[in-house]
Amino acid sequence: MEENKLLKDYKNIWEIIEESEAKEVFSFAERYKDFISYGKTERLCVKKAEEIIKEKGFKEFEPNKKVKPGDKVYFKNKSKNIAIYIIGREDIEKGIKLIAGHIDSPRIDLKPNPVYEDGGLCLFDTHYYGGIKKYQWTTIPLALKGVILNKDKNVVEIDIGESEDDPVFYISDLLIHLAKDQMNKTLSEGVTGENLNIIVGSIPLKKPEEKNDKSKNGSSIKENILKIINEKYNFSEEDFVGAEIEAVPSGRAKDVGFDRSLVIGYGHDDRACSYAALESILDIDKPDKTLCVLLIDKEEIGSYGNTGLESNFFEYTLIEIINSLNGRVDLLTLRRVLNNSMAISADVTAAFDPTYPDVHDKKNSCFVNKGVAIKKYTGSRGKSGASDANAEFASKLRRFLSDNGVIWQAGELGKVDQGGGGTVAFLLARYNMEVIDMGVPVLSMHSPLEVIAKADIYMTYKAYKLFMEKFSLDFK
Ligand code: MN
Ligand code: MN
Repeated sequence: MEENKLLKDYKNIWEIIEESEAKEVFSFAERYKDFISYGKTERLCVKKAEEIIKEKGFKEFEPNKKVKPGDKVYFKNKSKNIAIYIIGREDIEKGIKLIAGHIDSPRIDLKPNPVYEDGGLCLFDTHYYGGIKKYQWTTIPLALKGVILNKDKNVVEIDIGESEDDPVFYISDLLIHLAKDQMNKTLSEGVTGENLNIIVGSIPLKKPEEKNDKSKNGSSIKENILKIINEKYNFSEEDFVGAEIEAVPSGRAKDVGFDRSLVIGYGHDDRACSYAALESILDIDKPDKTLCVLLIDKEEIGSYGNTGLESNFFEYTLIEIINSLNGRVDLLTLRRVLNNSMAISADVTAAFDPTYPDVHDKKNSCFVNKGVAIKKYTGSRGKSGASDANAEFASKLRRFLSDNGVIWQAGELGKVDQGGGGTVAFLLARYNMEVIDMGVPVLSMHSPLEVIAKADIYMTYKAYKLFMEKFSLDFK
């Protein structure tokens, strides 16, 4: 690798990549497209991840069974997180290597009492999840996914709107012909949170006893919809209370461009990094250090709750691992393991968008096709909320990636005063482990359908894999 690479010299991957690796870029993208087309909720991501790792010999952790170097075990947390470990040969007190990505994405959730009828339609009232530009979520086909406790008191999975003969659901927007007032509003006010109502039906129920009684309306669309739901899915209106049903864009991820270099899909933030992290350890057998890939929930709403990284789930899994290795565990050992560990906060960043150049500092932006994006810090307006990686760690990692043929770029999200965003880095940093943000640049982040470059997710995968296999702080 060349010395003193200047920032302006970041190369387009396609200009320098070998033919054989170019093929891998495309085949990796096919596997990824399958993953995000299926994994549209955190639960579905965990389910798919579990399927993939089981095939590679990973086993669910058993509390009373000893683990030994080379063992591959995983922990699930409430079906929404998964912590996947490969036990290393080294004493675990020397620390582990961790990659953490989030598998929740912005979406539309249902309110506790969602079903209502108005103006000849039956609708679901919603509360959006994560930071969205609300107007983007109107007039697109939506699928409904999640879990609900049905009448037999079984928690059942709901997944409607993906297969060819499934119906989809829809949030309307005002026709342009009548949108004078709306068009004069700001983009954030033109479509409000309360405007995000999902159309779920329009045929009223005919009640036999009222059929001939003209004085009575004799019909209710809401009743009819609830009747269909009851017959087909075996749950009632009350069962919506406590259910987790998410409206997400319907349809598969696809290639974009004549050259098929990009991928359009729902939830690249952050399933792109999560999938790259997952694949990075699939073929590692006896690592020096214990490795962990952690796929987590609730990042988009602040990481709170017992499935977010604010929960102690991750420490608890580590305590189990230490205990299983050493036959005991104490606070001091746990402290040493965490303190000596290294982590990648695997999250996406903004890709430079030539249509909106004003929000970016071009000299410090990440571009599609220029590789995995290293972000020493995130945060907004004066690094607020950032975990700023230590120079020693960040610099060694950068040099290591260069020396091992990973094409990377370094940048910020956008202009200093324009805004910003955070990741889970600060939550990993509280363990005092070394941590840095590194992931895939995304166009139209947080929109229903985002775009990434195949070459970037591949380089991200390559960076994660090399980090897990070979990186050490002794690297010169
Ligand atoms: Mn993210
Ligand atoms: Mn996000």
